[in-house]
Amino acid sequence: MLAASKLGWIDGIMMSYNYRLMVKDEMKRAVEACATAGIGLTAMKTQAAFLANFWASIGAETDDALGITENFLKKGYTAEQAKLKVVWENPHIASICSAMPNMTILQANIDAALNQQRLSETDRKRLEQYARETAPGYCAGYAQICESAVDLEVPISDILRCSMYAHGYGSRDMALSLFNSLPAGAKENVFQADYSRAEKSCPQKIQIGRVLKRAREDFG
Ligand code: SF4
Repeated sequence: MLAASKLGWIDGIMMSYNYRLMVKDEMKRAVEACATAGIGLTAMKTQAAFLANFWASIGAETDDALGITENFLKKGYTAEQAKLKVVWENPHIASICSAMPNMTILQANIDAALNQQRLSETDRKRLEQYARETAPGYCAGYAQICESAVDLEVPISDILRCSMYAHGYGSRDMALSLFNSLPAGAKENVFQADYSRAEKSCPQKIQIGRVLKRAREDFG
């Protein structure tokens, strides 16, 4: 985004942007630079799904993290609506591209869009706290960091995306479709690869080896 802001011919960018990424200094700088250059910004991946069920199934503690979301209900929003609102409230973001696979989600998104009540400072802090506590269950997708630190070729980011589809979006079909499209040899490497350097370099502190092996068993 920083590079794009200097080109002079980019009109719009659609990028991953959510309550996890928007608080990072690099992202703030990038958004500012694009806004100054007159580039329209469309946010995607605003829900930044935490793989709660999957994570719980491999033994990590999630109760504290998930308890945070319940507090939003007391304010009259679901956590999902709060995640949309926090992005919309940034005046530099022109729009959100959001998957709405059923009428319930469509209606919830419309309600969130029409709701003019702004999030409070406490709501924002709650989202930040939630993001911190669930960071090891969210892959930010900067694959070059971890994949270059593994001794064998393994599509780490793609396999984590399969897990997100299955356990975060509840769509096993999407997960299997992506998983089946990955090169067979690379999938075979999942059990042989050494992930120690990759795990040290992962900014989200994901237990990459553990999650990948579980996903490999799960998806075949
Ligand atoms: S470094 Fe971590 S967050 Fe980035 S793609 Fe790899 S596993 Fe995901």
